[in-house]
Amino acid sequence: MVIAEASGDVVQNSVGYCCRQDGAKLLSEVIRVRGRFADLQVFEETRGLRIGDTVEFKEEMLSVVLGPGLLGQIYDGLQNPLPKLAEQAGFFLKPGMYIHGLPTDVEWQFTPKVQAGATVQAGDTLGTVPEGIFEHHIMVPFGARGERTVERIAEAGTYTVEKEIAVLADAEANSHPVTMQQPWPVKRPLNISRRRLMPAEPLVTRVRIIDTMFPILRGGTYCIPGPFGAGKTVLQQITSRHAEIDVVIIAACGERAGEVVETIRSFPELIDPRTDKPLMERTVIICNTSAMPVAAREASVYTAATLGEYYRQMGLHVLLLADSTSRWAQAMRELSGRLEEIPGEEAFPAYLESRIAAFYERAGAIELRDGRVASLTVGGTVSPAGGSFEEPVTQGTLKVVGAFEGLSQTRADARRYPAIDPLNSWSKYTGIIEPPKVARAQHVLRRGNEVRQMMTVVGEEGTNIEDFTVALKAELLDNCYLQQDAFDKVDAATPAERQQFVFDKILELLDLEFEFQTKDEARKTVVGASDLFRNWNYAAWDSEEFKKILADIDAFIAGKGTQEAQQAQPVAAEEQ
Ligand code: ADP
Ligand code: MG
Repeated sequence: MVIAEASGDVVQNSVGYCCRQDGAKLLSEVIRVRGRFADLQVFEETRGLRIGDTVEFKEEMLSVVLGPGLLGQIYDGLQNPLPKLAEQAGFFLKPGMYIHGLPTDVEWQFTPKVQAGATVQAGDTLGTVPEGIFEHHIMVPFGARGERTVERIAEAGTYTVEKEIAVLADAEANSHPVTMQQPWPVKRPLNISRRRLMPAEPLVTRVRIIDTMFPILRGGTYCIPGPFGAGKTVLQQITSRHAEIDVVIIAACGERAGEVVETIRSFPELIDPRTDKPLMERTVIICNTSAMPVAAREASVYTAATLGEYYRQMGLHVLLLADSTSRWAQAMRELSGRLEEIPGEEAFPAYLESRIAAFYERAGAIELRDGRVASLTVGGTVSPAGGSFEEPVTQGTLKVVGAFEGLSQTRADARRYPAIDPLNSWSKYTGIIEPPKVARAQHVLRRGNEVRQMMTVVGEEGTNIEDFTVALKAELLDNCYLQQDAFDKVDAATPAERQQFVFDKILELLDLEFEFQTKDEARKTVVGASDLFRNWNYAAWDSEEFKKILADIDAFIAGKGTQEAQQAQPVAAEEQ
């Protein structure tokens, strides 16, 4: 924190540079103005700054640069490309080193989409360049007010992001040159649309417990709270890989350096199952470790949201994953402490909830001016200290998100992955399965849990056979459907159609009224069915193996398990 005395006007949230005597200029943001004095939050170590050093105030707000070349990048919270920074500075970053967020030497193949004389508005497409598997739209600057006339548009050809590709005239006939890049202030939502839509289309993650039980919608919000080690980061990686979405923005904020390094190292190796190309080609990673300056950590989620909104503006479906928002909230708490603000619960600032709400509000489905529908979905992990969800960040998040995928330590300890707790999670959205069907499954899980609790007291002998069977059915649903093997080629990702088909079969089985004589018979029969369903998960959709197991399952259901023994024997014999 730096307090500066200003000679002219200073605007809240504008950028300033604190100039060290050795010439380094440290990026800062004005976070409070009191008369002639401005409080600056420096995005760097303030070591080396002295009383009397000058501060250069700028007019612009903390911004990122938008344009082709964002995909595949790994940035810090201030949009410095980390690999390049490391190349230039070595292992230890020097304060005051900033690198342009976009490559300036790449020549992009530009195709104009408007003609001279056309009338355009902010966000309209002037032309496109191919970026990875997408058509990157070069748009009329988002800050342009009112209508503009295209005075000049570049011919098809190759241009760098710094080259002029169009000249636009405003109503007063002033000419504005346009390049392929433009800045945007990170804290201002970017949304140029005909209207905001209610999220309605399911975002299929191909994780069964999410899509079937606690669905997410494109343009919606969700959170994944869970104690340390419960699988938040792994779940986000699975989602970024398999979710049916165009672009993924990952904000790895403030986790320990080791974890962030792990993300950076493992991510570029992942192959996109959809394109067979590196997953990074449609991903942007923003990362900050807890070792980086606190203000940069605080900024990183806004940087990520802005990049997400930018690709949405192009007509794409974007998923923003913030891991973890607790670290972001901690950064907010530290900054608030330095400002000596009145602390709220657990020393978080009183505005914690409104900041969390404002962050998730950046999600949304929109109809663009040309009628295309695009979306930004926001999912954040929360890592509550001590694992209790009764803390301000989790509670503040719960109030605003549409789905709650709560991870449980007990499930993680039992290696029941993904460790989303089916008894504790919820979603306000309707996904790919009709809600009454979901409710039936939930009923079985709840009853099964009650019976299990009871059994720990009265033992198996004290439990009647109907209850015992319900517990077995709940176990089957959990083992064979809710749990999923992230390391198996087939089981790792279940498309919507397959989920609908398999879930119906599971429900058929759950609805069966068995007439077991003994608990042993009950156990043997249901375990037999479990084996069938589990093997089914590993069989490729519509393969011969898949059809064969389906026939076995149908026979099992038709005979309520009585024929299962005869059916299963030949299979077992073949295997030997
Ligand atoms: P968190 O981010 O919640 O602290 P991680 O996502 O890093 O936890 O997970 C911790 C460990 O748990 C992983 O290293 C992995 O061994 C295991 N794990 C988590 N999720 C899964 C999963 N879906 N399948 C298999 N192992 C998992
Ligand atoms: Mg983690």
